[in-house]
Amino acid sequence: MSSWLFGIFLDGWERRTYHSVGFVATNAGPSMMSDPRNPVLEQAFDLAIVGGTVVLPDGPTRINVGVRGQRIAWLGTDVAQARRVIDAKGKLVLPGGIDSHCHMDQQPWEGRSSADDFRSGTLSALCGGNTTILPFAMQMRGQSLQAVVDDYHERAASKAHIDYGFHLIVGDPTPAVLTRELPQLIEQGCTSIKIYLTYEGLRLDDYEVLTLLELARREGVLVMVHAENDACIRWLTDRLLEQRRTALKYHVTSHPEIGEREATFRAISFAELIDTPILIVHVSTGIVVEEIRRAQARGLPIFAETCPQYLFLSSDEVDTVDMSGAKCVCTPPPRDRSNQPAMWRGLTDGTLAVFSSDHSPWNYAHKIEGGPDKPFSKVVNGIPGIETRLPLFFSATQSEGRLGLQKFVDLTTTTPAKLYGLYPRKGAIAIGSDADFAIWDPDREVVIRNEMLHHAVDYTPYEGVTVRGWPVMTISRGELLYDHGKVSSSAGRGRLVPCARPLVARKSLTPALDFGRW
Ligand SMILES: [Zn+2]
Repeated sequence: MSSWLFGIFLDGWERRTYHSVGFVATNAGPSMMSDPRNPVLEQAFDLAIVGGTVVLPDGPTRINVGVRGQRIAWLGTDVAQARRVIDAKGKLVLPGGIDSHCHMDQQPWEGRSSADDFRSGTLSALCGGNTTILPFAMQMRGQSLQAVVDDYHERAASKAHIDYGFHLIVGDPTPAVLTRELPQLIEQGCTSIKIYLTYEGLRLDDYEVLTLLELARREGVLVMVHAENDACIRWLTDRLLEQRRTALKYHVTSHPEIGEREATFRAISFAELIDTPILIVHVSTGIVVEEIRRAQARGLPIFAETCPQYLFLSSDEVDTVDMSGAKCVCTPPPRDRSNQPAMWRGLTDGTLAVFSSDHSPWNYAHKIEGGPDKPFSKVVNGIPGIETRLPLFFSATQSEGRLGLQKFVDLTTTTPAKLYGLYPRKGAIAIGSDADFAIWDPDREVVIRNEMLHHAVDYTPYEGVTVRGWPVMTISRGELLYDHGKVSSSAGRGRLVPCARPLVARKSLTPALDFGRW
């Protein structure tokens, strides 16, 4: 049911997009382009990728790719001239990954900055097979959203290795934000708004959520929701601390699955009331997947995301005798392992549409500062994972055979591009799209070690994990930036990519809500 829903929203858009921007449909491309009189072949390409299995929007196929400048110019089986040829025999050629949920250079937490700025964060991303990221510009209570976004532009512009856009975090929906700043920022290409139902300084109350959903509906943008019940978390934390239950494992207890389900249901209900789509971020557990599946079965445009920590970590890793469990402290927390089959079912049947990292780069040293008796409630939340997201998921889905290759690309790249208004410029190997690729060696075995990763975080929660399949080359807008461990990129080459209004939200572009419908 949910994949049917998705088909309606996304496939319809695809067809329209090809028409409206004059893209050649890729399934018509190869035969047309193999005509030797076709002028596109008379001039040498800047880059050709030959002999690989290429994942096109309609499936994997053996085809060669020609790049001119920064764009894909040709797909075909002919031999064409190119200044540089990459032999991809035995390899998979995928569109460059899009990490649509990551935090970079965010505001300090208890006086400490996160470990990654845009330089190390985007370097880490590109070495993990990504060519685009969508981090957050975070507004907290009392701040101007526009000033926050201006600041993020500055932080990113001279440091980013790969292309980026911004989601807006609205933590203070003042009249100025609602009437002036948001409409302006949406016009400038920030077309997704994240809201929090918990966290002091960020949390919106129900009235504010409704107001923002109304704005999103009017403006045709997508609202992402961090769905956890704030009172449940605060009440449980207080009770646990009163009882001197301060060990790390109580971090999991203090963020109950029931509270995540309640907040998810509430967000869905509000979206239903306002008649506008939402995306539930970082779904952690089976009962929330069920809640989302029920909403989708009612025909509601509810989208959902999950992350590696809910498939590859569990509450066991948080429950350690020493403080090492802090390496896996994030919110929502990793859940009991028994949830994982339900998470995989959600990915298989389309209930969960996006797989992102939620890279949140806090150092272990910072997490455990204050010693071994530090209560769970004082440990900064968030774990790194921008470079390991794709290899972990590739290994579990391809090498272990859980999902098809097309589905892997959809979840990690194509669907986020569509949901956040980047498609078809990003997220597809198609004529006219940006020449962003990740070339994968599906047989390469790698034991993950923090020392080989490129982030600035002092640990990885996946230390010692063996994966099969690794991105060996990353190409961004025609430029080979990463080649078997060798980086030849420069900070500042990455560009801001303004996001269009996502089609799933554009359908609700109506002048005003029909108040009669209630
Ligand atoms: Zn996050």
